Amino acid sequence: MKTIGLLGGMSWESTSYYYRNINESIKASLGGLHSGKIALYSVDFAEIERLQHAGDWDATAEILSGAAKKVEAAGADFLLICTNTMHKVAPQVQAAINIPLLHLADATAQNLVDDGITKVGLLGTGFTMEQDFYKGRLREHFALDVMVPSKADCKIVHDIIYKELCLGQVKDASRVEYLRIIEQMVEAGAEAVILGCTEICMLVTQADTDTKLYDTTAIHAERAVTLALEKN
Ligand code: GLU
Repeated sequence: MKTIGLLGGMSWESTSYYYRNINESIKASLGGLHSGKIALYSVDFAEIERLQHAGDWDATAEILSGAAKKVEAAGADFLLICTNTMHKVAPQVQAAINIPLLHLADATAQNLVDDGITKVGLLGTGFTMEQDFYKGRLREHFALDVMVPSKADCKIVHDIIYKELCLGQVKDASRVEYLRIIEQMVEAGAEAVILGCTEICMLVTQADTDTKLYDTTAIHAERAVTLALEKN
């Protein structure tokens, strides 16, 4: 089994899902007392969040690159950045290490392509929904037609992530808002919706809607397990 490197803490609420998902999946595959070999570095999210909202992405890249080197030194065979948003600096992080980065957008897009989806709605932080580092990759590398909510709804989705989910707060009223926004994207032609923020699975799950959801946290963790158990 390979050692899975996790760059987490963004937020720790979602990193706990990665830890659980990976271990449950390894146990389901190998049985008994088997569990994942994991090297985790968890950052202080307050520092990252402040720099994100100040637009100082270079500083975030420096922090994450330093942390990624520590994960590599701890023996990881490959690395996951446990947040969609921070894939904005994925190229800098990859350049800082000698192990491969398992890109979250690629893992998710591959599942969509395998399922024959071509037009998809995207929910995530404002950075993920409005900038091009994530949507652009889905469009250019996987020919996906990506749709995002209206500007007002993007703000609602973004604020619920930072002011509630990253603080561990899960509110029924916010779930109603997310389901309304998902429904609107479906009415506008989306065949499925990407939960493109690793905390959204705390609020909305497939049981809440008939719309096909792609939970990036679960997909990323599952892909890591496949890679860790691959024989080569
Ligand atoms: N975990 C979130 C994501 O997947 C948001 C927190 C962050 O800004 O990293 O985008």
